[in-house]
Amino acid sequence: MSKRMQCTRRDFLAAGGGIAATMGLFGLNVGNIWSQTTTSSKPAILGGDVRTLTGARSWPILEGSEEERVLTVLKSGQWCRSGGAGIDLEFEKEYAEMLGAKHCLVTNSGTSALVASLAALEVGPGDEVITSPYTFIATVNAILMHYALPIFVDSDLETFQLDAGKVENAFTENTKVCMPVHIGGAPADMGTILPLAEKRNVPVVEDACQAHLGKWGDRYLGTLGTTGCFSFQVTKNLSCGDGGAIVTNDTTLSNILYDCHNNGRGNIDSLDFRFHPLRAANFRMPEIMGAVLLAQIRNLQGYAEIRNANGLYLNSLLSKIPGVYPAKIYDGGTSAWHLYMFRIVPEEFGLNRDKVIEALAAEGINSGPGYGAMDWVTYVRQTYSTPAAKRVYSDKVLDDWSERIVLSNNEKLCSQAIWFTQDMMLLPRENMEIIAEALTRIQKNAGEIANS
Ligand SMILES: *Cc1c(COP(=O)(O)O)cnc(C)c1O
Repeated sequence: MSKRMQCTRRDFLAAGGGIAATMGLFGLNVGNIWSQTTTSSKPAILGGDVRTLTGARSWPILEGSEEERVLTVLKSGQWCRSGGAGIDLEFEKEYAEMLGAKHCLVTNSGTSALVASLAALEVGPGDEVITSPYTFIATVNAILMHYALPIFVDSDLETFQLDAGKVENAFTENTKVCMPVHIGGAPADMGTILPLAEKRNVPVVEDACQAHLGKWGDRYLGTLGTTGCFSFQVTKNLSCGDGGAIVTNDTTLSNILYDCHNNGRGNIDSLDFRFHPLRAANFRMPEIMGAVLLAQIRNLQGYAEIRNANGLYLNSLLSKIPGVYPAKIYDGGTSAWHLYMFRIVPEEFGLNRDKVIEALAAEGINSGPGYGAMDWVTYVRQTYSTPAAKRVYSDKVLDDWSERIVLSNNEKLCSQAIWFTQDMMLLPRENMEIIAEALTRIQKNAGEIANS
């Protein structure tokens, strides 16, 4: 803090902006004057002024009714869901209706939503699941939990999504499920993927864990496939700490999903503990989490609109900067903006990605490099190196598999990507300009930064 203030003081003297800066130190809103006096100044990493983003609130943001709703559940004594009634069920109805899905089932995480979906679709050892390499590790773990083989389709550098043009080649007679990820909350190319899967009768599980209220055309993500899986982990756009949901329009499957998340026991509130012949687990969501979600969901739509307006605005600003490429959204798609993602092309920008992140941090703007180029092939090989796994996956099978996995674009993407988190897309609009100005300043002084 003291360093920041020294910095500020030196710069306002240099810029002759004494009054504005003094007011700024006292927390008065002088954003406009302030940014005008400093737009042409040096990047903060070269000793220039630091502009903090305005109006930040820490995530998660309370909606207001959480406390009362949680207390009601506490006092009711119904802490665990029962099939026929309760807060989880109330939330499921509301979320399904919001998305336009027939059924919704809440789970205790997004990961377990994915695991339960694959269980309900009877994915097992030797099966192949087509998916994206540019994703959170849970997507892949859900496949490995069933001892299936993830078939990674390389990433599309422009959109950061899996390259739908390469999906057709990924199908074999062993393909059991196609599991696209809507990374960042923006849609994968469902217009290409869905017909390919349909033609082969392969179910589609959408990993929509980042994509609450993202859209493909006028349909919400998660409702286009056989199932759609959501996460309510605390960083996600809708959250209760930890939680998840599966949506589907298939009524038979929705009953199987219920069994899969309830140790094979059906949607019954009974003392029938006789044998239930289904390989399943306990993925139930505690009712208290349902209460938090019922409060949080009140803000979901409004926040989605703010994120979308800011995200699109920031896209328009950043795409003017040489070497900066915001992730494109497929025509007709709407992002949930769980992540604001862009690429730095070092030859055009003048700095590499990591240096840009450092320079942004100096400006008071938090960003991150996102997913590292996970060595998925080594990870899967290690996972299946046990004697038991070897009975299904011989060296030959794994060698053939690894030859099919080409991830050169993904590696490039992982070396060039920068992310902002969804809460930054909730800031007042002028912050998008502050971010763009900072990045512009950094780019214009790239040579000097590189040599500093
Ligand atoms: C968060 C996330 C998951 C897993 O969700 P959890 O609730 O953390 O288990 C899966 N896939 C993607 C793409 C995610 O971002």
